[in-house]
Amino acid sequence: MMGVTHALMGGLLGASSMFFTPELFLAAVAAGFLGGLFPDLDLAWKHRESLHFPVGYTVLSSVLIGAAAATGNYYVVLASYFTASAWLHSWIDILGGGLEERPWEGTTDKGVYSHSLDKWFPPLQIIRYDGAPEDFLLTVFLGASLYPLLNGYPEAQKVVVASVIIGGFYSLVRKKLLDARDFLLKFFHSLID
Ligand SMILES: [Zn+2]
Repeated sequence: MMGVTHALMGGLLGASSMFFTPELFLAAVAAGFLGGLFPDLDLAWKHRESLHFPVGYTVLSSVLIGAAAATGNYYVVLASYFTASAWLHSWIDILGGGLEERPWEGTTDKGVYSHSLDKWFPPLQIIRYDGAPEDFLLTVFLGASLYPLLNGYPEAQKVVVASVIIGGFYSLVRKKLLDARDFLLKFFHSLID
């Protein structure tokens, strides 16, 4: 699943604050949105390992939600939306493709990694790969669900629209990007040889 898909999903999770902590609504949406993006920052390290903690976030978000309910502290409440969203991301990756350069080929059984169990769960490939048409459809659906909830917050609505546009663009070029990179690599190799 694309980063923007996760982010919008996290934003919606943050929007559930309208029932629990309506006074923090917008901040909670932002915390959820960022928490949804956060695990995929490990693309720069070991993807789906360094910042994806399915079990770890389960424990951490349970503790934080408990602490938030008990104290009502502004920062703890926002941290709990952020962590719950990272938790959702870490688990829901299992619906997507595996950890490989071309996930549509489906050659790996590495979907979601649990550090505590030291075990990979296989990808279900319901959404075949990040940037697949069905991934973009999900992005549109999530964006269309979140947008009206942000009535009165035009700046936040712009972020939702921008996320959907980014998702659409990424979906269009997802496969072509790899071909373009391979073409350039071949070209540079031919210059060196
Ligand atoms: Zn992920």
